[in-house]
Amino acid sequence: MPELPEVETTRRGLAPVLRGRTITRVVVRERRLRWRLPAGLESALEGRRVRAVARRAKYLLIATDRGTLIVHLGMSGSLRVVDPAEPPRPHDHVDLVLSSGRCVRFNDPRRFGSLHFVAGDPLAHPLLRALGPEPLSAGFDAAYLYRLTRRRRVAIKQLLMNAAAVVGVGNIYASEALFRARVRPQRAAGRLSQAECARIVTAVRRVLGAAIRVGGTTLRDYVNADGLPGYFRQKLYVYERAGEPCRVCRTPIRRRVQGQRATYWCPSCQR
Ligand SMILES: [Zn+2]
Repeated sequence: MPELPEVETTRRGLAPVLRGRTITRVVVRERRLRWRLPAGLESALEGRRVRAVARRAKYLLIATDRGTLIVHLGMSGSLRVVDPAEPPRPHDHVDLVLSSGRCVRFNDPRRFGSLHFVAGDPLAHPLLRALGPEPLSAGFDAAYLYRLTRRRRVAIKQLLMNAAAVVGVGNIYASEALFRARVRPQRAAGRLSQAECARIVTAVRRVLGAAIRVGGTTLRDYVNADGLPGYFRQKLYVYERAGEPCRVCRTPIRRRVQGQRATYWCPSCQR
């Protein structure tokens, strides 16, 4: 599943391709995505000039001179820059043909991705308005996490993965950040000290920042805007390393299913 670093990498790849260009033609080959594409999508976008490509959580916001296209990559979606004459591959559902002669092509084998067009403020869209702070923004700091976790019995890992608490911290990054913060994933959020909250915030920011710098984790379904995979996977400390020696202390990494997701931790380094 594309996580925040992959979406941010995609945004950075697409922004110079889209910014200042006019969308001359929209080709829809499949309307049945997570939500059915509205009939007016093509006419809403054609002739619009792209002002900016932003991101909120895992949503890409392609802002035009009149309205915004909100794109979510779902479980297996990707956006590639191609020549519009290139024959579509299987699962190439939508093309945005640009005045530059290039084309941004949306591919999604599992069709959990979505495209929405909004005329007004995209941040007021029902999908976006209840989201917590961005993990790399000033709003996500130690004081915020400490306040948020008081009297909460939920496990800290589950809280980190809840988009109402903080957006874009998926399973890989929650596991890796908690290792770096030396906090066990199953700890009750309300029992964390201020120092532990500070370490968790720092670790989340470092892990996501590092993943963005190297272009996202290598994932089976994911390619970035240039069609290349990322190189983060080699740097993982605990994720999908059950039974392997901890890279710090050599203790075997443990695995447990927590809230239907696999969780990994070092029983010696994490308390
Ligand atoms: Zn260890």
